[in-house]
Amino acid sequence: MAATTPNHTVTVSGWAAHDSSGKISPYTFKRRKNGVNDVTIKILYCGICHTDLHYAKNEWGITMYPVVPGHEIVGVVTEAGSDVKGFKEGDRVGIGCMAASCLDCEHCETGQENYCEKMEFVYNGIFWDGSITYGGYSQLIVADHRFVVHVPESLPMDAAAPLLCAGITVFSPLKDHDLVATGGKKIGVVGLGGLGHLAVKFGKAFGHHVTVISTSPSKEEEAKQRLGADDFIISTNPEQLAKAKRSLDFILDTVSAEHPLLSILELLKVKGTLFLVGAPDKPLQLPSFPLIMGKRSVKGGIIGGIKETQEMLDVCAKYNITSDIELITADRINEAIERVAKNDVRYRFVIDIAAASKE
Ligand code: NAP
Ligand code: ZN
Repeated sequence: MAATTPNHTVTVSGWAAHDSSGKISPYTFKRRKNGVNDVTIKILYCGICHTDLHYAKNEWGITMYPVVPGHEIVGVVTEAGSDVKGFKEGDRVGIGCMAASCLDCEHCETGQENYCEKMEFVYNGIFWDGSITYGGYSQLIVADHRFVVHVPESLPMDAAAPLLCAGITVFSPLKDHDLVATGGKKIGVVGLGGLGHLAVKFGKAFGHHVTVISTSPSKEEEAKQRLGADDFIISTNPEQLAKAKRSLDFILDTVSAEHPLLSILELLKVKGTLFLVGAPDKPLQLPSFPLIMGKRSVKGGIIGGIKETQEMLDVCAKYNITSDIELITADRINEAIERVAKNDVRYRFVIDIAAASKE
C-alpha cells in the first residue's frame, strides 16, 4: 500500500484480475479505516457489468493491475462515521460506479457528480487520499456516504444489484428526454444485455412502445413474452430494417462492441435521437447522411448522479423493476466473465458475496 495511505489498515478478501488475460483470482488487500464521512458496508451481492470485462482485460488500455472490479454493489451498513447523514448501521444500501468527486463544481452542485472532472470510479480510480480504489468483488467496502444510496425494502437485494450501474445508465437518458412515466413514444433499444433488458423494462413500465434491435434471434421470444417488448428487429436483416425506417423517436444503444450505426440511425424519425451508452474499445463510424437527411442527433452519457440513482431505485420499487439475474458463487466468476464475453447471459450475473463470507 502506498505511503500516502497510512490509515489503510482494514484487511479485505476479494477477487482481482492481475493482467490482461482478465483471469480473476482471490486477492487480499487493505481498505481505509472508516472515516468521519464514511460508511463501512458488508457486501452481499455484486453484479458483473460488461465494463468489468473491459477493465479486467485492459480493453480500454487504462487498467491499473491488480484490479478488483465490481460497481453494482449492495450490502448492509456495519459502521457509520460521526459526520454521516442519512445512513446508520443495518441499512440496506447500494454503491454504483462512483467513489468520489470534487463536491463543489457546477456538476456536483446540480446532482451530476458523474460529469465532475474530478469524478473517480469505485474501482481503478484514485481516491482523495491517493489510494487506488477497489470495487465490489470483495467482502467489505468503505465508502464516502455522499456516494451511497438506499435500496428500497421491497426490492430483493440480489436482483437490485445491477440497478446500481445498468439501471441508472439507462434510466438517466430516459429521464433526460422526458420519457419517464410519460408514455406514448416509440423507443428502440440496441443490444439486449444487462443494460438493454433493463431499458426494455423501464420503457414498458413508462408506457412506451419498445422495439429491440438485436443480433440474437434466440432472444426474440423472451424479449416479447417476458420483458414485454413490442417489436424485435434483427440488426442484420435488411427487410426488417427497411420496414421500420423512420419509425422511432429515441434509440438507446447499449452495444459493447464495434457495430454499424447507419441502419440504426435510419430507424429514427426526423429529429430523433440516438443515445449511446455502450463503450466499445474501437471508435464507431458516424455516417453523416442519416444525420443531415433526418436532422437527427447522436449523443452519449455515463451513468447518472447520486440523487438520480436514488430516484431510479425508488421508481424501480414503485414499478417493481429488478434485473433478471443468474446468481453465481465467487468461484464461478471466470466462467461468468467468459459467458458475458460470448453474449451468453440472461441478463446479468450477480456474485453471491454473502455466501463467500460464510465460508
Ligand atoms: P452485455 O450484457 O454484454 O450486453 C451487450 C449487448 O450488446 C449484448 O447482449 C448483445 O445484444 C450486444 N452485442 C454484443 N456484441 C455485439 C456486436 N459485436 N455487435 C452488435 N451487438 C453486440 O453488456 P452490458 O453490461 O449491458 O454493457 C454494455 C456496454 O455498455 C458495455 O460496453 C459497457 O462497458 C457499457 N456501459 C456503459 C455505461 C455508461 O455509463 N455509459 C454503464 C455501464 C455499461 P444482442 O444479443 O441483443 O445483440
Ligand atoms: Zn457497469
